Amino acid sequence: MTADAPPPPSKLAIKDQSYSPATLAIHADDRLNAHTADVAPALHVSTTFRYSNNPTDLVPAADEDCDIDNAPLVYSRVSAPNTTRLEAILASLCKGHALTYSSGLAAFFALLTYLKPKVIAIGGGYHGCHGVIDVHSKLTGLKKVDLHDEKSWDEAGLGKGDIVHVETPNNPTGSALNLEEFAEKARKRGAYLTVDSTFGPPGLQDPFAQGADYILHSGTKYLGGHSDMLCGVLVTKDREAWEKMWAERIYLGSVMGSMEGWLGVRSVRTLEIRVQTQSRSAEMLARWLDACVDPSDTTDEGEIVKKVISKVVHSSLQEEDMSWLSKQMPGGHGPVFAMHAKSMEMARALPSKLHLFHHATSLGGVESLIEWRRMSDLTCPDTLLRMSIGVEAFEDLKRDLLDGFKALAEEGASQADTQMPIQTKEGTGLPT
Ligand SMILES: *Cc1c(COP(=O)(O)O)cnc(C)c1O
Repeated sequence: MTADAPPPPSKLAIKDQSYSPATLAIHADDRLNAHTADVAPALHVSTTFRYSNNPTDLVPAADEDCDIDNAPLVYSRVSAPNTTRLEAILASLCKGHALTYSSGLAAFFALLTYLKPKVIAIGGGYHGCHGVIDVHSKLTGLKKVDLHDEKSWDEAGLGKGDIVHVETPNNPTGSALNLEEFAEKARKRGAYLTVDSTFGPPGLQDPFAQGADYILHSGTKYLGGHSDMLCGVLVTKDREAWEKMWAERIYLGSVMGSMEGWLGVRSVRTLEIRVQTQSRSAEMLARWLDACVDPSDTTDEGEIVKKVISKVVHSSLQEEDMSWLSKQMPGGHGPVFAMHAKSMEMARALPSKLHLFHHATSLGGVESLIEWRRMSDLTCPDTLLRMSIGVEAFEDLKRDLLDGFKALAEEGASQADTQMPIQTKEGTGLPT
């Protein structure tokens, strides 16, 4: 794309939702294939772009009436080829107008800046979003109330223009909340429903179908999918809001880098197959582990798992919620679930016994991760292990966990042995 020649018309209209998401992930940006025969898009690193060489084409900039769809490239804080391409695909996959940001939290900050609520209702969820709210509170006096305590909404006067913010599935457990219920509560008060759908990427759920006004993604997770880029995404059906947030982003300055935009395009091409595999494996692992910790299970595997794990949490195990949950997550459950170890020591030691799971924070990548969650979130129980399932084979992941439990249980047993007084000829004493 050059500044003086707009891209030629697309073979595929951006709003053409008659194609399935797998197809749109590959072709929704075809209209941006201007002046180049590249099949794989080029990485454009330029921050600035030449104006037209034709003086009569030179029209001074005016933000208000800029046509974003056909805006010429000027400066990469305004728009840039790689991020625009990523936004074109995300718009298709998320069924709205999409904007990208330098990180998920930058996107959330931009959303609060645009909507300027006086009150926000929010549950537990990702602790970083609470940090963003604290910063906004400092700037604007924004009040935070508990999502699950409507009395606190009343006391704070949550009403028109305020925000009900729901993260589902929820960090760090992968359990789900009923969006329709919160959409109804928000609607009654004239508040917006904003949904952090990071744990339920496109393909698993579409929060607009349950009444969301704005959708937030940390694109760092499933959209990026390879643990190598930071990205935030906001999506809305409201074209005017999208244009205004785009204009505000120019001054917030929190745009994605071109390298990340390029990586993002490369990543979302395979979003569907990655997430389907991850979702399927996570559900099978969560169900297997949950069955193992059941007291009625007396299999050998069950005995081993029970030595280390006391409880498993995941939306796939919310049997009583399946009537709304199967509607809300028609594509499958999220690839993150949580395990509670029987002790803090076990939770802390298990990651070191695994070979396939990296012990690291974050989620959504092709690599399976386990995190003793206390490492990054002091508010969560010290026995909690957060699991992010990657695209490795299910059987291998299962075996790795089982071997890890076994090693930990044996070590625990031998440590217990060494703590026990040992009978010697000379008498009783601990080994030195
Ligand atoms: C990671 C995450 C964020 C923050 O995203 P960054 O890209 O790290 O800024 C927000 N919400 C949820 C649910 C997340 O997992």
